[in-house]
Amino acid sequence: MTTNNKNLKLAIQKQGRLTDETLEFLRKSSLEFESYQQKLFSLCRNFPLEIVYVRDDDIGGFVENGVVDLGIIGQNILYEVRPKVKKLLNLRFGFCSLVIAVPKESDVRRLEDLNEKIIATTYPVSTQNFLKKSNVQAKVIKIGGSVEIAPVLGIAEAIVDLSSTGSTLALNDLRIITKIYDSEAVLITNDKFSGQTSKEKLLEKLLLRFKGVLSAKNYKYVMLNAPEEIFPKLKKIVPGLKSPNISQLIKKGWLSVQTVIKEDVFWETVEKLKRVGVSKIIVLPIEKMIT
Ligand code: ATP
Ligand code: ZN
Repeated sequence: MTTNNKNLKLAIQKQGRLTDETLEFLRKSSLEFESYQQKLFSLCRNFPLEIVYVRDDDIGGFVENGVVDLGIIGQNILYEVRPKVKKLLNLRFGFCSLVIAVPKESDVRRLEDLNEKIIATTYPVSTQNFLKKSNVQAKVIKIGGSVEIAPVLGIAEAIVDLSSTGSTLALNDLRIITKIYDSEAVLITNDKFSGQTSKEKLLEKLLLRFKGVLSAKNYKYVMLNAPEEIFPKLKKIVPGLKSPNISQLIKKGWLSVQTVIKEDVFWETVEKLKRVGVSKIIVLPIEKMIT
């Protein structure tokens, strides 16, 4: 199927919830390749990497057996199927949670109420482990898909399924009881090519690109103007302000400061900056950040 054994091979989901964001992530990493529905694999134009399109259920096994060198799948599959693979990176997309839900009108309110009940799921291993840990005795039945239908059909009183916004559950009149775990897309590999120096070098190069994209996503580039005397306060507010670029503004006593702020504390930080007297703040997305 593939063309060259010297290339790195990466398996990704052919068609599903992870596909678009995976392709977007690879393109942001400056990999150039063609991809369309019928394509079985693509060879990157500017990197010795082959991208193989498969069902997400096959990715763990392919990586474990060395059919491919790398794969992108949901962490949920690692928890459930436990292929012998190594996780290299969390990719910060494909976020979802595995949750326990019951019909809205159910009298099950808390976890303990699930004792003696039947739970339908496509994630029996994760469910059993969680129930055991929580000391709940419920019967778990595995069904192939469309888990939400199980309570309507009367085959289960609760379900365990993946959910990202909860809207599908709500649409099916289901209410979440508790979360089992959070998941996101991850990059996995095996140890089959350790020792093959050329492939290891390629992986190192690829990881540098991936990490560059991930750090860029986590930070924003910020330019701001502030009176000189509040600079000590700024240093406290922006932890990343260890080696900022500072220049004098034409307006006397004012500085122009350029730095990066972490995305998850971005708004908090901006509010604090406004409060201490920073004027004009300009925010730019970062395309790549290599540290
Ligand atoms: P395939 O045809 O490749 O077997 P699938 O139907 O098994 O696909 P999808 O529903 O496309 O799989 O989900 C793929 C992955 O997307 C999941 O394993 C999970 O990691 C992630 N995901 C993100 N959000 C959700 C969600 N709301 N529901 C289900 N999976 C989600
Ligand atoms: Zn699947």
